[in-house]
Amino acid sequence: MTSGSGWVVLKFGGTSVASPRALRRAVAVVARTQREARTAVVVSALAGVTSALEAAATAAAHGKAVGAAVAGRLRRRHRKLLHALAPARARETARVLEPILLAVHARLDAAALGIRLTASEHAHVLATGELLAVHVVAAVLAERGLAASAVDARALLVARGGPLEAEPDPAASRERTQRWLALAPALPVVTGFLAGDDDKGLVLLGRGGSDVSATLLGSALEANRVELWTDTPGVLTADPRLEPAARVHSGLSAMEAARLARLGARVLHPRTLELAHGIPVLV
Ligand code: ASP
Ligand code: MG
Repeated sequence: MTSGSGWVVLKFGGTSVASPRALRRAVAVVARTQREARTAVVVSALAGVTSALEAAATAAAHGKAVGAAVAGRLRRRHRKLLHALAPARARETARVLEPILLAVHARLDAAALGIRLTASEHAHVLATGELLAVHVVAAVLAERGLAASAVDARALLVARGGPLEAEPDPAASRERTQRWLALAPALPVVTGFLAGDDDKGLVLLGRGGSDVSATLLGSALEANRVELWTDTPGVLTADPRLEPAARVHSGLSAMEAARLARLGARVLHPRTLELAHGIPVLV
C-alpha cells in the first residue's frame, strides 16, 4: 500500500479471542503485522459475553439477583485465558479486572433491588466484556514480548446520541485520536463496541459495533488498511447455516459489500464500510 499513515488496524471478533487456540492464532497475526507496520488492535468481548450481559440485565430488571453469578463466571473465563497464555502476568492482570467485575456486579444487584439502570449504566453493563477483554489480550501480547497496552476507546473515538446506539463522528474521532497519538503505547489494544461522547462518557455503537470501531479508528489514523478477523473464511456468497454450498467471495467492491451488509450479511455491520472512507477493509 502506498498511501496512508503506516498504521494497520487489526480487529478480532469474539470467537477469535475466546479460546487459547484462537487467541494464539490472533497473537501470531499481531506479531507478524507489527513487524511490518505500526499496529493497533481492536477487540470485542469474548464470544457470547455481550449477549449474556444483555440477558443478565433483563433478569436483574425482573428482580433476579444475578450480579454475583455473572461476575463469577466472567472472572473464571478471563482468568482461565490468562493462566493459559500469560502465566507471568495472570495475577497482576486478574487484579486489574476486579474493579470492572465489581462494577457490573453492583449495577446488576442494584437493578435487582428495583433501582432501574439509567441508559448510561445499562451501556456500562453491556460494555463490560470489551473492558475485560482488552486487558487479557494486552497481557497475552505482552507475554510474547510485544509492547501492548490496553486502551479504553473513549480516549480516541467519538460518538453521540443515545448511550446504547450512538452515531460515530468521524471528524471528532480523528481529532481526538490525533491528540491521543502523542501518548499512545507502541501497540494499543483498544476496546471495540464503545466510544466516548463529547465528555468522554461511555456510549455504545450498537450490537456488532466492534467492526465500526475498527473502521472508525482506521479512518481516524488514516490507516493503510483495516483487517477484520472473524471465524468465517471471508465474506460468503450465502449464509453457511442455510446454504452448505456457500463460497467465499474472491473479491468484493466496498459498494457490493455494503449492500450485502445492509441485506443482513452477519459478517459486516452495515456502517462499517461507510466509515472507511476509501481505506481498504479486509475480512
Ligand atoms: N461485543 C459486541 C456484540 O456482541 C460488539 C461486537 O462483538 O462487535 O455486539
Ligand atoms: Mg461479537
